[in-house]
Amino acid sequence: MSFNDWLERLHPEDRAQASALLSNPALHEDSATSPEFRIRHENGSWEWLEQRNHCLRTQGRITHIVAMCQIISARKLAEASLLRREQEFRTLVENSPDIIARYDLDLRCQFINRSINRYSPIPREEHIGKHIGDKGWPDELVRRFEQEARTLIETREARSFETELFRDNRRYIFESRLFPEFDRNGVLTSILCVDREITSTRQTNRLLTEENAVMEMIANNQPLPDILKQICQMIETQLPHGICSIMRLDDEGTHLKMASGAKLPPDYSAMVDGIAIGPEVGSCGTAAYWKRPIIVDDIATSPLWAKFASKTVGEFGLRACWSIPIFTSEHNLLGTFGIYHKEPRRPTPEELDLAYRSTHLTAIALQSNLHEKQLYKLATQDSLTGLNNRRQFLDLAGREIKRSQRYQQPLTVMMLDLDHFKNINDRYGHDVGDQVIHHFASVLQTVLRASDLAGRLGGEEFAGLLPDTDLADALPVAERLRQQVENSALTINGQAVHYTVSIGLTALQPGDVAIDDLLRRADKLLYQAKDHGRNRVCGGDTFSRALDVENT
Ligand code: GH3
Ligand code: MG
Ligand code: MG
Repeated sequence: MSFNDWLERLHPEDRAQASALLSNPALHEDSATSPEFRIRHENGSWEWLEQRNHCLRTQGRITHIVAMCQIISARKLAEASLLRREQEFRTLVENSPDIIARYDLDLRCQFINRSINRYSPIPREEHIGKHIGDKGWPDELVRRFEQEARTLIETREARSFETELFRDNRRYIFESRLFPEFDRNGVLTSILCVDREITSTRQTNRLLTEENAVMEMIANNQPLPDILKQICQMIETQLPHGICSIMRLDDEGTHLKMASGAKLPPDYSAMVDGIAIGPEVGSCGTAAYWKRPIIVDDIATSPLWAKFASKTVGEFGLRACWSIPIFTSEHNLLGTFGIYHKEPRRPTPEELDLAYRSTHLTAIALQSNLHEKQLYKLATQDSLTGLNNRRQFLDLAGREIKRSQRYQQPLTVMMLDLDHFKNINDRYGHDVGDQVIHHFASVLQTVLRASDLAGRLGGEEFAGLLPDTDLADALPVAERLRQQVENSALTINGQAVHYTVSIGLTALQPGDVAIDDLLRRADKLLYQAKDHGRNRVCGGDTFSRALDVENT
């Protein structure tokens, strides 16, 4: 076979090497590295050969080359796959989101992958050769690492622990694992360290637990201020540099009242408490006004804060405020949820998400409180007149009587019943009757003081209780009420409706035990008033007659 024919059978990439061998064979004779090349097998595949050369000489001149070829395909394959595996492994380590590092037993860094750049105060290259204590990590972190590494060196067993790192206003939580590495003789040579960031998992778990605690408080009807405080604390643990505030819209829907915000400077809270909402009233006042989130990352430069910035920044050191409106499920505004920072700051998407979740939780708390108030109202108020219903009146009156007895103060109770009310219903209809009852309730409330109690006991029957008032002082009040009813020029559906009321009055007496004793007596006197011709006040023998005489 000619040399060229032989060359033809070699792998194209290896041909140059083979021709070089022929052009200067002495160079390659018994060299330390025997040439390796691929040659085509008769089945068409490539076979790797390793060739050792021996030159035969005649008078010093090379006349023959004796070549010994060994098939090394299997070894080449193994080498290639090892190389590939090593490359794959390096790619994996390099691109792992975990921090992977190797330390010698003096805790000097031998290798660290590039994930470290996300957390480290110094660039990756500077880690190599540095002791764990010289990398700029917080003392607590170094102390923990050293302690765990020491245990590993003693026990020769892997370690697993959690560490925390605060950097750039963020908290990172890591699950760190240390693995011992041994040489062939079983001697411990180095420590492999894998740090996995688990901040979001941990925080999600913590948040869920704390949210559940708040929900439980809501379900258990804990006081609203306690629930709101808990929500603020929850945010403040999640955002270590955040300060949380919750403001509630007042009943008129025009002002915000501070409902929670224990970590805000007290003078700042006092300054914004009761603030009128508007288009340029900081973050919360504006958020309530436009009913949309207002994220101010620097109070000092925001036009929305222009009126308050100098005090807020200068005096209280607050620089950022993110505010989210709180709505009921029917989209009625309940208030605002605010997060302050002492440095200019824009929320990350996770932080914004957290703020929305807390706002939602606050909405549930406020709404549940509102429902509870509504339920209480339903249970205690008469729906037609808004007065205390029978049960509530008896309940509150019982307490008033106990107090008067304890402090030996006078107290007067009155029973009131509209006169010939059946006739009003018959003549004008039940609807008009209802409006008369409503009218009477409002007259009753205007005549009585705020500290007096009024209740609708049923139908067109009412009761009043005047604390700290004896019979002599109460009788003119009752008489004024009677006159106002008699003289009220009431027009309903275009018809003038005239009605009157009879009143029985009695004062607390030494033998009285409960409200029933007074009501029974007042009721008797009321029926005396009815018996004496209605539209009159009867407060016992003397006064009722005097008034009766006046009226007749
Ligand atoms: P008297 O002067 O003796 O009190 O005569 P009266 O007609 O008012 O008699 P009584 O107190 O016995 O009757 C009360 C009537 O009031 C009976 C009922 O039809 C009517 N009534 C009770 N509750 C309501 C109510 O909620 N709305 C209306 N429109 N009428 C009521
Ligand atoms: Mg009546
Ligand atoms: Mg009646």
